[in-house]
Amino acid sequence: MKKRRPAEAKSKPRARKSRPRARRSIGARYRGSPLPIGEQYPLPESELAARARAIESLLAEKGLVSSDMIDQVINAYEHDIGPMLGAKVVARAWIDPAFKRRLLENATAACAELGIGGMQGEHMICVENTPQVHNVVCCTLCSCYPWPVLGLPPTWYKHPQYRARLVADPRALLRDDFGLAIPDDVEVRVWDSSSEIRYWVLPQRPADTEHLSERQLAALVSRDSMIGVDRTRGAQARPGGSR
Ligand code: FE
Repeated sequence: MKKRRPAEAKSKPRARKSRPRARRSIGARYRGSPLPIGEQYPLPESELAARARAIESLLAEKGLVSSDMIDQVINAYEHDIGPMLGAKVVARAWIDPAFKRRLLENATAACAELGIGGMQGEHMICVENTPQVHNVVCCTLCSCYPWPVLGLPPTWYKHPQYRARLVADPRALLRDDFGLAIPDDVEVRVWDSSSEIRYWVLPQRPADTEHLSERQLAALVSRDSMIGVDRTRGAQARPGGSR
């Protein structure tokens, strides 16, 4: 099995000598997701779109991609691939202890049992949240993310502020930007995904869900809970999300 890289960060931030600046939360007003672009994100969407069009034109001009190919990829990730697939895996793990063991041992193989897999998910590791441990995922280098189970990464996941602050002070980021307070007696583990290994989270099953079917359980699992910036909160959970 590939080596895991937990990055437990328990250190408190240093006291500032100068007057503290007003915090720029990337999500305080947007509990969970989506997170705002605009003020918090220096590049306006129009600029990002223009850049994407320029890259697409260049790749097409060089014969590396066709517009049909791009349309197919967009269509797949808009309709067929996304957090609903990860939620399906989570629900199965909640009701089937043997499957859960296999998922935690080898997430890529366990997902393949359900017909889930593909590019950007060749080596996935699923880490389990427990009453003692809360896991959260980022990619400090860029935006590595388990596409087959979560779809395309949300905008905030790629933002330098999220990537840097999560490692420096995960409790503060979860509290301030996502409204998720982790109790002091719960260990926080930050997992740094890379192009070789992509992490995602098996959230805790909400209480009082014994009567629910596998399908109903899957509907409770949000994308953000599988990144680790939210809990699965029973009926309050919001599946999906694409930004
Ligand atoms: Fe990356």
